[in-house]
Amino acid sequence: MVKAVVGANWGDEGKGKITDMLAQNADMIVRFQGGANAGHTIKNGYGKFALHTLPSGVFYGHTVNIIGNGVALDIPKLFAEIKSLTDRDVPKPNILVSDRAQIVMSYHVLFDQYEEERLGGKSFGSTKSGIAPFYSDKYAKIGFQVSELFAEELLEEKVQRVCETKNIMLEHLYHKPLLKPQDILQELHEYKAMVEPYVADVSSCLHEAIKNGKTILLEGQLGTLKDPDHGIYPMVTSSSTLAAYGAIGAGVPPYEIKQVITVCKAYSSAVGAGEFVSEIFGDEADELRRRGGDGGEFGATTGRPRRVGWFDCVASKYGCRMQGTTEVAFTVLDVLGYLDEIPVCTGYEIDGEVTTDFPTTAKLKHAKPVLQKLPGWKCDITGIREYSQLPENCRKYIEFVESQIGYPITMVSNGPGRDDIINREK
Ligand code: GDP
Repeated sequence: MVKAVVGANWGDEGKGKITDMLAQNADMIVRFQGGANAGHTIKNGYGKFALHTLPSGVFYGHTVNIIGNGVALDIPKLFAEIKSLTDRDVPKPNILVSDRAQIVMSYHVLFDQYEEERLGGKSFGSTKSGIAPFYSDKYAKIGFQVSELFAEELLEEKVQRVCETKNIMLEHLYHKPLLKPQDILQELHEYKAMVEPYVADVSSCLHEAIKNGKTILLEGQLGTLKDPDHGIYPMVTSSSTLAAYGAIGAGVPPYEIKQVITVCKAYSSAVGAGEFVSEIFGDEADELRRRGGDGGEFGATTGRPRRVGWFDCVASKYGCRMQGTTEVAFTVLDVLGYLDEIPVCTGYEIDGEVTTDFPTTAKLKHAKPVLQKLPGWKCDITGIREYSQLPENCRKYIEFVESQIGYPITMVSNGPGRDDIINREK
């Protein structure tokens, strides 16, 4: 049984928490896209952790945690992350790295920085983790696959070729120091020594696991609106954030993904630039940002303050549809308990017309939010475990959102901890 846990919005919906929770009853947890550019924050018995590359199943002894072929693998960061767990008494997790994953090189990080510098104010708000240069190289076929670390003759020839191309850009576009092939080769040798014990034919392992009835979680990074095809292009990430891509980025048949759990946050937040129709500003935003998430809305990887706004039914309905949602986990609802009234964005007004269909970016720039105010519940709902025990206005808020997005909300998360969850009988 393969299940995907993915985001409906701009990311930071709480996928890490939901994955950590579901991992209790799973055998394998697979990261299938993205890299160390974003993070999941997880709070459990060991403490509070920010994961960037590791799947959110690493806190259990029984799980196998897999870095799939679709991931941008930053080997030093992966090892630093493993150490950050074991330093805090988490048992060393079981990890496999796909032999088909490609490697983030030190020059990818540099190119990311150089390009942001060159673009100045017109930059894409990159986290400068090398992700865009990495995926560009992957599709330009000048990336390094983990398997290539074990083919020395091929490696030397390829390093020469890559350096020639990169050095033209470094010299003439960026005016920066050139790459030396021997340095790059040494970097690759170091990576080989580090990663060798973990390398596996991941799709084959997953094939066996599926045959043996194991439960596999595919863990997405970011959300629908950051997808390079279906998101707010060009303010998107460089790999697909959709559950469908889980089949490719992990190497499983698409028809094996039986459940798509789309994580949807009870209000909106986004890191970095890009269209965000229901965004709020000023004191109203500061208050939500301060109270939001677990200790404020600040990026798990970058520490950047997140932009915040009201729940966006248009973006979330679209976000859920593109994921192929079978059920929704509605998160961070507890945060809204301070509001007398809670505005919800139910439509976009574009050039005088109201729509509930999420448009392409050029049109999105003209969209103004149509807001409807729902009554708040004015109390702390953390600790509640039964849906029927939630205040009436809180249930009405959930049910209103559910009717607007058109997908069943089966889980309500009312706190950052593993147990802060209300399973809703449908
Ligand atoms: P992810 O990338 O989707 O995993 O999201 P992040 O980890 O970046 O952001 C979610 C933040 O919200 C984290 O700080 C979580 O600990 C926190 N969080 C998750 N679910 C809840 C919840 O139901 N209530 C509260 N208050 N915080 C939550």
